[in-house]
Amino acid sequence: MSQNNISSPRRRSVGVRVGTITIGGDAPVIVQSMTNTDTADEVATAVQVAQLARAGSELVRITVNTAEAAKAVPAIRARLDDMGCHVPLVGDFHFNGHKLLTAYPDCAKALAKYRINPGNVGHGRKRDEQFATLIETACKYDKPVRIGVNWGSLDPEMLARIMDENAKLAKPLDAGQVMRKALITSALESAAKAEELGLSRDHIILSCKVSGVQDLIAVYRELAAQCDYALHLGLTEAGMGSKGIVASTAALSVLLFEGIGDTIRISLTPEPGGDRAREVIVAQEILQTMGLRAFVPLVAACPGCGRTTSTYFQELAESIQAYVREQMISWREQYVGVENMTLAVMGCVVNGPGESKHANIGISLPGSGENPVAPVFVDGQKTVTLKGDNIAGEFRHIVDEYVRTKYQRKSVHV
Ligand code: SF4
Repeated sequence: MSQNNISSPRRRSVGVRVGTITIGGDAPVIVQSMTNTDTADEVATAVQVAQLARAGSELVRITVNTAEAAKAVPAIRARLDDMGCHVPLVGDFHFNGHKLLTAYPDCAKALAKYRINPGNVGHGRKRDEQFATLIETACKYDKPVRIGVNWGSLDPEMLARIMDENAKLAKPLDAGQVMRKALITSALESAAKAEELGLSRDHIILSCKVSGVQDLIAVYRELAAQCDYALHLGLTEAGMGSKGIVASTAALSVLLFEGIGDTIRISLTPEPGGDRAREVIVAQEILQTMGLRAFVPLVAACPGCGRTTSTYFQELAESIQAYVREQMISWREQYVGVENMTLAVMGCVVNGPGESKHANIGISLPGSGENPVAPVFVDGQKTVTLKGDNIAGEFRHIVDEYVRTKYQRKSVHV
């Protein structure tokens, strides 16, 4: 079912070129992710970056925390290019970033963006020197920088200064307001310093991450109102499973609805052995359900109830969603607009045919006591009734045929 877009217009921001993509400006909201491999293990890291990119991550961040990691970065880039994977790599730097970027110029060149945390750059006079080295390296190699402030690692000197100033106010701010002010001040003062050092505004992205949903919304509203830098959104330490997904979705949806945010990352903790690419799928689904972008046809399914006597319709809904996600990799190359296709898998005839008619392709499986047949609707019209042991296979065939006949083929340039 098509939806009216009632969200606020996108906040105006300065576009930043990161390798082959743009963040901010007129660009769509970009999906990014981060590896959890040891970057020094160049094979494992390249494989995971490729998996994340294949799932739809448009940028992938890797930590660069040691000399071994910095040495591995050019090799990771080369391996990815050999695989035909040209996703831009972002290097995550902390306490020793200034040393690594200076000592390993090939690492500095292979990365498309540097992420630095002003709270983890150093202390006192060294802090300024080390920050300057990071920014000068970015200028030298023409790389953009994300100044990523995190409430768990705020610059203690700046925090002390803001608390002192606050104590002198006639009406001091409460603890939450002080924390938000400190995050925003750190980001904006660091950005101003980076500009003084020669990094242009179209090379700067900001983030202010916290782990509380309400705090994140409040911080980004204030930050968005105070600057036109491109903004990276993310709830830090979102957590595992449904908790992480719900918290990230709640926070980011409010901000995206208000037009705030130029790139998003969902910081999910995978279950042991879990799929790292899940954070990419969640990010895409947030943007798609908010009506901002379309990536993959989404399958609507009823929740099931006492009228469903088997798990068949749940299995079909799950398998067809996985099928279209996998097929989308080649459909995207061949056809225009398949990502907007809608599918419905319903458990019985009560709501099944009605919901199916609203989708491009819908199937209504037999509920308890109903004839063991599954009517299929294509663009609102009942076309065929499936039965027997291969309903899933025949339904996939109908989806394939629909894509082949309804979507315009992309022209092939030889
Ligand atoms: S469509 Fe049928 S099976 Fe699904 S929730 Fe509604 S009544 Fe239950």
